[in-house]
Amino acid sequence: MSNKLQRQKLSLPTGHDKLLLHSCCAPCSGEVMETLIESGIDFSIFFYNPNIHPVKEYEIRKEENIRFAQKHNIPFIDCDYDTDNWFERAKGMENEPEKGIRCTMCFDMRFERTALYAAENGFSLISSSLGISRWKNMQQINDCGHRSASHYEGIRYWDYNWRKHGGAVRMLEISKKEEFYQQEYCGCVYSLRDTNRWRKSQGRDRIKLGVKFYSNAMDDEQ
Ligand code: SF4
Repeated sequence: MSNKLQRQKLSLPTGHDKLLLHSCCAPCSGEVMETLIESGIDFSIFFYNPNIHPVKEYEIRKEENIRFAQKHNIPFIDCDYDTDNWFERAKGMENEPEKGIRCTMCFDMRFERTALYAAENGFSLISSSLGISRWKNMQQINDCGHRSASHYEGIRYWDYNWRKHGGAVRMLEISKKEEFYQQEYCGCVYSLRDTNRWRKSQGRDRIKLGVKFYSNAMDDEQ
């Protein structure tokens, strides 16, 4: 395997001894978690994603993440599902495209809560699995992470690029090995609406929640 694709042993930035990792879902955090475990890094998972709609989808994504955390004995902090707060902040942004200002709001909100929890619970470093997905704008995510951390004295956002050194490839491999639930839209009700609209324009069926899982059989389908 080329060096570019080899998993690197990581160290936390100087001055930090543990990490609070915001997780958006099991497929995105699987590779991040395995890298941290192999590197011997002390970390906890922080699950705060009130953007996910409907609650059925939220529960499935969360349970998949809990299952994987328990398998590796990683502490899992199950934060609120305060959807009222999310919808309040999203007002007027209902028709914004993905990667636009609604997503900035959505990342800000999740990072702000992560930074608050870190400040109140003895963590000095936060990061997130959000940036590993190639569907996301990493610069947008990192800007939100840094902004949220800057509100708290002594809290830093770690902008490590989890896609590097084959991370994006292993993310898919782990998802298949673990047979994680495969979500088919980003998360909020507007992304569900827009994905369904796009699918309709392509002559495809609407998304069915809770039915699609990664598997090695996917290799045969491709
Ligand atoms: S598309 Fe995704 S990141 Fe953007 S607002 Fe919706 S859930 Fe949040």
